[in-house]
Amino acid sequence: MTEQLIDSVGRRVNYVRISVTDRCDFRCVYCMSEEMTFLPRAQVLTLEEIATVARAFTELGVEKIRLTGGEPLVRGNIGELVDEIGALPGLSDFTMTTNGASLRKHAQRLFDGGLKRLNVSLDSLDRERFKALTRTGDLDKVIDGIRAAKEVGFERIKLNAVILKGRNDDEVLDLVDFARREGLDISFIEEMPLGDVSDHSRAETFYSSDDVKALIEARYSLMPSTVTTPGPSRYFKMSDSDSRIGFISPHSHNFCDSCNRVRVTVEGRLLLCLGNEHSVDLRAVLRRYPGDMDALKRAIINALPLKPERHHFTTDGDVQVVRFMNMTGG
Ligand code: SAM
Ligand code: SF4
Repeated sequence: MTEQLIDSVGRRVNYVRISVTDRCDFRCVYCMSEEMTFLPRAQVLTLEEIATVARAFTELGVEKIRLTGGEPLVRGNIGELVDEIGALPGLSDFTMTTNGASLRKHAQRLFDGGLKRLNVSLDSLDRERFKALTRTGDLDKVIDGIRAAKEVGFERIKLNAVILKGRNDDEVLDLVDFARREGLDISFIEEMPLGDVSDHSRAETFYSSDDVKALIEARYSLMPSTVTTPGPSRYFKMSDSDSRIGFISPHSHNFCDSCNRVRVTVEGRLLLCLGNEHSVDLRAVLRRYPGDMDALKRAIINALPLKPERHHFTTDGDVQVVRFMNMTGG
């Protein structure tokens, strides 16, 4: 029988998010500072190491893998990694979170490699504002990337929008209407206190999911959806559209009880919780015992008791975790 990953409070871990790079072509204000120092190559897992980690997890009963970053599409040879992971037996859900800017170039390869779903981050439909929020991004490229992904056959593409008070809260309905027109799902995310960003005070920009939901309900009535996805979104649907609307609310609706996820950082740290520092260094195991799958699996199993019962994010703007999101993977 396959071993399973069960933590100390009985939650079964069946979902892993793997960060494949800390680098990115954007500098979103809530995610990175303007000047970033990225990790030297030797500290980052190689593609082979990432594929080995993915295999170890699937052999431990993990069925869902999401590749993220940083921006996964800036990692060289990402297509080869997708091919390898896509071929692993036992995976029922293989997804990627991307800023979408280079999907026109990569979408076909990702689809052919077995990636099943895409999440694309999109916080504004206004070119200038998009540029301000991402510091470098080009809105037209992202929209073209989303269309390219649809053309090659991706279904149920989901937009992720982080809403910041005073920056893009007036675009909530426009984003919903864009999702409806393009046949996409959309999740609204509360900003999380990860990394010390200089651009804004998080206490001032915090915008709760309940407030976003109220804005949407001024135009559409939202019915709770029975859909469950591997992630922490709560989903709603509208009577006249297939698009689903999700809310990821680490502050206002704690989702720890049903947490089935762990993360692997770009340096190969197995993080048991996004909001805590508990971790185990898988890179050390990979490099000390090259090719020893049992040693790797044992390290993962032994790490599980470290998974905390819940995170302790607050909305007072304090930085509670000094890691930036690009290190961890969203
Ligand atoms: N570069 C890809 C992208 O932007 O989709 C993948 C990595 S990004 C870190 C993953 C998700 O995390 C994005 O949807 C982004 O909006 C979100 N994110 C980044 N920093 C965040 C923060 N401080 N609070 C909440 N969400 C954040
Ligand atoms: Fe890059 Fe994604 Fe972070 Fe934006 S949210 S800076 S696109 S990693």
